[in-house]
Amino acid sequence: MRNPVSRAAAPMHVDPASIFDPDRVHVRRYGDRLLVIDQANGRWIGLDHREGRMLPLLKLGPGVIAHAAIGARLEELRRLLVDNDIGASDGADPTRLNTIILKLTKRCNIACAYCYDFENGDQARNADAGQMKAAVSQALDLAGAGNKLSVILHGGEPMLVWDLLEEIVAHGEAEAARLGVRIGFQGQTNMTALTARKVAFSQAHDIAWGISLDGDAAANDRFRIRTDAGGTYNLFERALRDYGDFVRQFPVLSTITGPTSGRLLETARHFRDIGMAGWDWSLFQPIGRARNGNPQFEANGEQLLASWAALFAAVEAGEFDGFPVQPVLKYLRNFIESPGGNMCLRPKCGAARDLVSVSYDGAIEACDCLDRSGPLSPIGAMETGDLRSARAGALSAFIRSRDTSRNHCSQCLWFGQCGGTCLAHSGGIDSVNGLHCAVSQLAFDSIARSMLTTPAMQRYYGSCQ
Ligand code: SF4
Ligand code: SF4
Ligand code: SF4
Repeated sequence: MRNPVSRAAAPMHVDPASIFDPDRVHVRRYGDRLLVIDQANGRWIGLDHREGRMLPLLKLGPGVIAHAAIGARLEELRRLLVDNDIGASDGADPTRLNTIILKLTKRCNIACAYCYDFENGDQARNADAGQMKAAVSQALDLAGAGNKLSVILHGGEPMLVWDLLEEIVAHGEAEAARLGVRIGFQGQTNMTALTARKVAFSQAHDIAWGISLDGDAAANDRFRIRTDAGGTYNLFERALRDYGDFVRQFPVLSTITGPTSGRLLETARHFRDIGMAGWDWSLFQPIGRARNGNPQFEANGEQLLASWAALFAAVEAGEFDGFPVQPVLKYLRNFIESPGGNMCLRPKCGAARDLVSVSYDGAIEACDCLDRSGPLSPIGAMETGDLRSARAGALSAFIRSRDTSRNHCSQCLWFGQCGGTCLAHSGGIDSVNGLHCAVSQLAFDSIARSMLTTPAMQRYYGSCQ
């Protein structure tokens, strides 16, 4: 079995030995199958376990083996690996911008206890329309004619500044048409301020929303609260009641905290059962309002791993066929399609590469998840510069220099698939987050085992296309 998405084979006139680096080739056995994976680019192939005896000989180089049949088989194997990009090419390193996050406002109509966007003492403030439109024009220019730019409408709560949002979408569409760039709009909302006008405009302009919710009413209302400390699930239910067909088109994103660490399966079932389009997760990050150190916010590692394993078993058994469970599907998709498409699951992540974020105050950031009061942010300011100069600056170059294979990940076979966890959740430029690392190891190991020995995960992947 190979990655189903194959690249062009190396030309026959290229000697595989001249481009092959055997040190990048890592191997793990699952039953009578062998996973052979390139540690740097994440490309892989499944082989019969008996080939395992041949693999160490690849380090010897061509012509060293005197036995003609073994030598020929070795060359065949080397070409097979090179043709599948194993040991022979670097991973994705996108240099062209394709995604911009616009933080349209610092305001929100609810007051989640762990909100990463609000520092205690922050004043509510909306973005300047001129600055946001300039950012969109610059991003379209950087994306380049013939390519696509994704614009992510973010906040605070972006539905609170609807006039501004409409103005930016209209501007983006007109500019994109003028420059010959394809443009798509996404947004992240708590979906508690929905109106008929917002539904109609979103439908007319194809805005794909993600909805922030942490589970059923009891789970959600623990931390996702109003300013008077009441719960917010009923506000989402109101949107579901009034605009059900519209709301159900979109997936839910849950922040996983201590109380929800052991409830991944229940949470996925809840959102499937109320008819949502899918479910995604994000592990709690202790910035913004969550700097207060409430120990309940932190995910419980042990519970989380056990819960992920139970979720995976349910997915593998077919319980979620046709329903995207992203805590499993995003790893699976990366494994099957090869790293590159998901900017957070590859060694050279999106920050200051294919992604940039512009804040409500015009600050330019490499990624909106990076701590605004930390040393990696901002990379520039719309007031005094532009996206191009921010991306070309020294801090952006430093962020792009992140390479966790220099230390923690140097021996890990999943490095090309995992990338070394999210920079924003790590303690330093080449550090990794221990819990994210443990989840990655469990996820890729479970997926590889299943993919090499059963058709289950290929079936699930196909059901979610
Ligand atoms: S909905 Fe989002 S922006 Fe608003 S308080 Fe909650 S986490 Fe923060
Ligand atoms: S963070 Fe962990 S799973 Fe990811 S590459 Fe590094 S060692 Fe491997
Ligand atoms: S910093 Fe984290 S969230 Fe941002 S692009 Fe990199 S991996 Fe993704």
